[in-house]
Amino acid sequence: MERVVIPAGEGRAVEVRAGRVLRIEAMDGLQVADAAFVALHNHREGYHAGQTVALNMLAGTGTMRRVTTLWSRPPYERPMLTVIDDPVGVHFAWNGGRCSRGVYAVRDGIESGHRTCQDNLEEAVRPWGMDPDLVPDVFNVFMFTDVEDERRLVFRPSPARPGDYIDLRAEIDVLAAVSACPSDTSATNGGAPKPIALEVRATDDGDEPGPGG
Ligand SMILES: [Zn+2]
Repeated sequence: MERVVIPAGEGRAVEVRAGRVLRIEAMDGLQVADAAFVALHNHREGYHAGQTVALNMLAGTGTMRRVTTLWSRPPYERPMLTVIDDPVGVHFAWNGGRCSRGVYAVRDGIESGHRTCQDNLEEAVRPWGMDPDLVPDVFNVFMFTDVEDERRLVFRPSPARPGDYIDLRAEIDVLAAVSACPSDTSATNGGAPKPIALEVRATDDGDEPGPGG
């Protein structure tokens, strides 16, 4: 088993081979993680939030807030990962966004200098030689965000408690870049960024994967 602790406000990436399980853990609770998935051997094939929500709703396997199958973007459109254990049960599946220069400028009036999930994800994929322009939509783990009156985005504190996690089984070989969100200006992380842990293990029952796994 591989375990990587992402320091508060930073990002890291891990390879998850098909059949293996990625756990994303809110070690200290009250913290969101932004996860960007691309096919390990073709970085252009990235996770697509809108298509994922649509396909899960069409298949009866998810909602705008909680999905089962994470799909890559058209024209590839393959299941990349499957959520197999999700005790928190809250994502922000339909949006695909992350904190960025634009978010801090428009929402908080901070024009520059604030660290962002976009920065973290770009840095995390660099060791794999991935073009940072290819960082795709993100899957907002443990993030509880609502829309009020169809026009107001409300960022609520993450419901994740210490040790809470989500387990995702890789359906293809993926590169998983994860940001321990550095936001201290919204309620999502309780005003204080905290670390996130990543674990990659063989299968959901602990066995070694079989041939091709
Ligand atoms: Zn963020």
